Amino acid sequence: MLDKLLYFDTTLVFDTYIDCLLKEVESAKNKAERYAHSLEDKVAERTQQLKELSQCDPLTDIYNQRAMFDFLRRELLMAKRNQTKLSVIYFDIDKFKLINDKEGHLKGDEVLKAISGFLLQTIRETDLACRYGGDEFCVILPDCDAENAQLICGKIINHFVNKYPNYSLSMGVSETGGDKWCLGEEIIRQADEKMYFAKKEKGSQIRF
Ligand code: GH3
Ligand code: MG
Repeated sequence: MLDKLLYFDTTLVFDTYIDCLLKEVESAKNKAERYAHSLEDKVAERTQQLKELSQCDPLTDIYNQRAMFDFLRRELLMAKRNQTKLSVIYFDIDKFKLINDKEGHLKGDEVLKAISGFLLQTIRETDLACRYGGDEFCVILPDCDAENAQLICGKIINHFVNKYPNYSLSMGVSETGGDKWCLGEEIIRQADEKMYFAKKEKGSQIRF
Protein backbone atom coordinates (compact mmCIF):
# COMPACT_ATOMS: atom_id res chain seq x y z
CA MET A 1 0.00 0.00 0.00
CA LEU A 2 2.78 2.38 1.02
CA ASP A 3 4.66 1.43 -2.17
CA LYS A 4 1.62 2.35 -4.20
CA LEU A 5 1.24 5.68 -2.45
CA LEU A 6 4.91 6.50 -2.93
CA TYR A 7 4.71 5.47 -6.60
CA PHE A 8 1.63 7.64 -7.10
CA ASP A 9 3.31 10.57 -5.38
CA THR A 10 6.47 10.26 -7.49
CA THR A 11 4.40 10.06 -10.68
CA LEU A 12 2.45 13.14 -9.63
CA VAL A 13 5.62 15.09 -8.92
CA PHE A 14 7.13 13.90 -12.18
CA ASP A 15 4.00 14.77 -14.20
CA THR A 16 3.78 18.20 -12.59
CA TYR A 17 7.44 18.77 -13.32
CA ILE A 18 7.03 17.73 -16.98
CA ASP A 19 3.91 19.86 -17.22
CA CYS A 20 5.81 22.90 -15.93
CA LEU A 21 8.65 22.21 -18.32
CA LEU A 22 6.25 21.95 -21.27
CA LYS A 23 4.58 25.24 -20.28
CA GLU A 24 7.96 26.92 -20.08
CA VAL A 25 8.95 25.54 -23.49
CA GLU A 26 5.62 26.70 -24.93
CA SER A 27 6.02 30.16 -23.41
CA ALA A 28 9.62 30.42 -24.71
CA LYS A 29 8.40 29.34 -28.16
CA ASN A 30 5.63 31.99 -28.14
CA LYS A 31 8.13 34.61 -27.03
CA ALA A 32 10.55 33.61 -29.81
CA GLU A 33 7.70 33.72 -32.36
CA ARG A 34 6.63 37.21 -31.20
CA TYR A 35 10.24 38.36 -31.40
CA ALA A 36 10.60 36.90 -34.93
CA HIS A 37 7.41 38.75 -36.01
CA SER A 38 8.63 42.03 -34.50
CA LEU A 39 11.96 41.54 -36.31
CA GLU A 40 10.13 40.91 -39.60
CA ASP A 41 8.13 44.14 -39.07
CA LYS A 42 11.32 46.05 -38.29
CA VAL A 43 13.08 44.69 -41.38
CA ALA A 44 10.06 45.61 -43.55
CA GLU A 45 9.99 49.12 -42.03
CA ARG A 46 13.76 49.60 -42.54
CA THR A 47 13.50 48.29 -46.13
CA GLN A 48 10.76 50.84 -46.82
CA GLN A 49 12.84 53.63 -45.24
CA LEU A 50 15.87 52.61 -47.33
CA LYS A 51 13.75 52.56 -50.47
CA GLU A 52 12.46 56.07 -49.72
CA LEU A 53 15.99 57.30 -48.96
CA SER A 54 17.29 55.85 -52.22
CA GLN A 55 14.55 57.74 -54.11
CA CYS A 56 15.07 61.08 -52.36
CA ASP A 57 17.50 63.91 -52.77
CA PRO A 58 18.88 64.45 -49.25
CA LEU A 59 19.10 68.26 -49.45
CA THR A 60 15.70 69.10 -50.88
CA ASP A 61 13.78 65.99 -49.82
CA ILE A 62 12.15 65.60 -53.23
CA TYR A 63 12.73 62.76 -55.73
CA ASN A 64 16.18 62.29 -57.22
CA GLN A 65 16.93 61.74 -60.90
CA ARG A 66 16.86 57.94 -60.73
CA ALA A 67 13.45 57.87 -59.04
CA MET A 68 12.24 60.47 -61.54
CA PHE A 69 13.00 58.22 -64.53
CA ASP A 70 11.41 55.23 -62.80
CA PHE A 71 8.20 57.19 -62.09
CA LEU A 72 8.23 58.77 -65.54
CA ARG A 73 8.28 55.37 -67.27
CA ARG A 74 5.30 54.27 -65.24
CA GLU A 75 3.41 57.53 -65.70
CA LEU A 76 3.91 57.35 -69.47
CA LEU A 77 2.42 53.85 -69.54
CA MET A 78 -0.53 55.08 -67.46
CA ALA A 79 -1.02 58.10 -69.73
CA LYS A 80 -1.07 55.86 -72.81
CA ARG A 81 -3.50 53.50 -71.18
CA ASN A 82 -5.80 56.34 -70.06
CA GLN A 83 -5.33 58.34 -73.29
CA THR A 84 -4.22 61.42 -71.37
CA LYS A 85 -1.39 63.88 -71.94
CA LEU A 86 1.66 64.19 -69.76
CA SER A 87 3.85 67.28 -69.42
CA VAL A 88 7.29 67.85 -68.02
CA ILE A 89 8.73 71.11 -66.69
CA TYR A 90 12.52 71.32 -66.68
CA PHE A 91 13.99 74.35 -64.98
CA ASP A 92 17.23 75.77 -63.75
CA ILE A 93 18.27 78.71 -61.55
CA ASP A 94 19.97 81.46 -63.54
CA LYS A 95 23.52 82.23 -62.48
CA PHE A 96 23.29 79.99 -59.48
CA LYS A 97 27.05 79.76 -59.27
CA LEU A 98 27.11 83.52 -58.66
CA ILE A 99 24.66 83.14 -55.74
CA ASN A 100 27.03 80.59 -54.18
CA ASP A 101 30.07 82.73 -54.88
CA LYS A 102 28.58 86.00 -53.62
CA GLU A 103 26.36 84.82 -50.76
CA GLY A 104 27.91 81.51 -49.81
CA HIS A 105 27.14 77.85 -50.30
CA LEU A 106 24.68 77.80 -47.39
CA LYS A 107 22.59 80.50 -49.05
CA GLY A 108 22.71 78.41 -52.25
CA ASP A 109 21.46 75.40 -50.29
CA GLU A 110 18.69 77.52 -48.77
CA VAL A 111 17.52 78.58 -52.26
CA LEU A 112 17.48 74.96 -53.46
CA LYS A 113 15.44 73.91 -50.40
CA ALA A 114 13.06 76.84 -50.83
CA ILE A 115 12.43 75.76 -54.43
CA SER A 116 11.43 72.27 -53.35
CA GLY A 117 8.99 73.93 -50.90
CA PHE A 118 7.51 76.11 -53.69
CA LEU A 119 7.10 73.03 -55.88
CA LEU A 120 5.28 71.06 -53.21
CA GLN A 121 3.02 74.07 -52.48
CA THR A 122 2.13 74.42 -56.15
CA ILE A 123 1.72 70.97 -57.67
CA ARG A 124 -0.95 68.30 -57.21
CA GLU A 125 -0.29 65.33 -54.95
CA THR A 126 -0.18 63.12 -58.04
CA ASP A 127 2.53 65.29 -59.69
CA LEU A 128 6.19 64.49 -59.08
CA ALA A 129 8.75 67.07 -58.02
CA CYS A 130 12.35 66.03 -58.65
CA ARG A 131 15.82 67.49 -58.33
CA TYR A 132 17.52 66.51 -61.55
CA GLY A 133 20.91 67.49 -60.14
CA GLY A 134 22.79 70.64 -59.11
CA ASP A 135 20.45 73.61 -59.66
CA GLU A 136 18.20 71.76 -62.14
CA PHE A 137 14.71 70.53 -61.33
CA CYS A 138 12.02 68.56 -63.14
CA VAL A 139 8.32 68.34 -62.50
CA ILE A 140 6.30 65.50 -64.00
CA LEU A 141 2.68 66.41 -64.53
CA PRO A 142 0.43 63.46 -65.38
CA ASP A 143 -2.90 64.27 -67.03
CA CYS A 144 -1.73 67.79 -67.89
CA ASP A 145 -1.14 69.48 -71.27
CA ALA A 146 1.55 72.05 -72.05
CA GLU A 147 -0.88 74.96 -71.63
CA ASN A 148 -1.72 73.98 -68.04
CA ALA A 149 1.94 73.18 -67.37
CA GLN A 150 2.76 76.80 -68.27
CA LEU A 151 0.27 78.03 -65.67
CA ILE A 152 2.10 75.91 -63.11
CA CYS A 153 5.43 77.36 -64.28
CA GLY A 154 3.99 80.85 -63.69
CA LYS A 155 2.96 79.94 -60.15
CA ILE A 156 6.39 78.49 -59.33
CA ILE A 157 8.09 81.62 -60.71
CA ASN A 158 5.76 83.84 -58.65
CA HIS A 159 6.67 82.04 -55.44
CA PHE A 160 10.33 82.24 -56.36
CA VAL A 161 10.55 85.94 -57.27
CA ASN A 162 8.45 86.91 -54.25
CA LYS A 163 11.14 85.45 -52.03
CA TYR A 164 14.15 86.12 -54.27
CA PRO A 165 13.42 89.23 -56.36
CA ASN A 166 17.00 89.43 -57.61
CA TYR A 167 17.16 85.91 -58.98
CA SER A 168 15.41 84.22 -61.88
CA LEU A 169 14.47 80.81 -63.24
CA SER A 170 14.55 79.48 -66.80
CA MET A 171 11.88 76.94 -67.65
CA GLY A 172 11.15 74.58 -70.51
CA VAL A 173 7.92 72.64 -70.97
CA SER A 174 7.38 69.57 -73.12
CA GLU A 175 4.23 67.55 -73.63
CA THR A 176 3.53 64.07 -74.87
CA GLY A 177 0.30 62.22 -75.62
CA GLY A 178 -2.55 62.40 -78.06
CA ASP A 179 -1.13 61.13 -81.35
CA LYS A 180 2.52 61.73 -80.46
CA TRP A 181 4.27 59.66 -77.78
CA CYS A 182 7.84 60.05 -76.54
CA LEU A 183 10.00 57.89 -74.32
CA GLY A 184 10.90 59.29 -70.89
CA GLU A 185 14.44 60.29 -71.90
CA GLU A 186 13.14 62.07 -74.98
CA ILE A 187 10.50 64.17 -73.21
CA ILE A 188 13.11 65.25 -70.63
CA ARG A 189 15.57 66.09 -73.42
CA GLN A 190 12.93 68.23 -75.17
CA ALA A 191 12.06 70.13 -71.97
CA ASP A 192 15.79 70.66 -71.30
CA GLU A 193 16.24 72.02 -74.83
CA LYS A 194 13.33 74.45 -74.36
CA MET A 195 14.84 75.55 -71.05
CA TYR A 196 18.08 76.23 -72.86
CA PHE A 197 16.23 78.64 -75.22
CA ALA A 198 14.52 80.33 -72.25
CA LYS A 199 17.96 80.84 -70.69
CA LYS A 200 19.07 82.93 -73.63
CA GLU A 201 16.72 85.72 -72.51
CA LYS A 202 16.99 87.86 -69.39
CA GLY A 203 14.82 87.26 -66.29
CA SER A 204 12.48 84.37 -65.57
CA GLN A 205 11.29 82.87 -68.82
CA ILE A 206 9.16 79.93 -69.93
CA ARG A 207 9.48 78.18 -73.33
CA PHE A 208 7.26 75.38 -74.63
P1 GH3 B 1 23.30 79.29 -65.68
O1 GH3 B 1 22.76 80.67 -65.54
O2 GH3 B 1 23.83 79.00 -67.04
O3 GH3 B 1 22.35 78.25 -65.22
O4 GH3 B 1 24.58 79.22 -64.74
P2 GH3 B 1 24.68 78.63 -63.29
O5 GH3 B 1 25.72 79.41 -62.56
O6 GH3 B 1 23.35 78.55 -62.65
O7 GH3 B 1 25.10 77.14 -63.60
P3 GH3 B 1 26.43 76.38 -63.40
O8 GH3 B 1 26.17 75.02 -63.97
O9 GH3 B 1 27.60 77.16 -63.93
O10 GH3 B 1 26.59 76.29 -61.83
C1 GH3 B 1 25.78 75.52 -61.05
C2 GH3 B 1 26.33 75.63 -59.68
O11 GH3 B 1 25.52 74.90 -58.75
C3 GH3 B 1 27.73 75.04 -59.54
C4 GH3 B 1 27.67 74.18 -58.30
O12 GH3 B 1 28.72 74.47 -57.42
C5 GH3 B 1 26.37 74.57 -57.68
N1 GH3 B 1 25.75 73.47 -56.93
C6 GH3 B 1 25.47 72.22 -57.33
N2 GH3 B 1 24.91 71.52 -56.36
C7 GH3 B 1 24.82 72.34 -55.28
C8 GH3 B 1 24.31 72.19 -53.95
O13 GH3 B 1 23.81 71.14 -53.54
N3 GH3 B 1 24.35 73.27 -53.14
C9 GH3 B 1 24.88 74.47 -53.55
N4 GH3 B 1 24.88 75.50 -52.70
N5 GH3 B 1 25.38 74.63 -54.78
C10 GH3 B 1 25.35 73.59 -55.63
MG1 MG C 1 21.79 77.39 -63.40
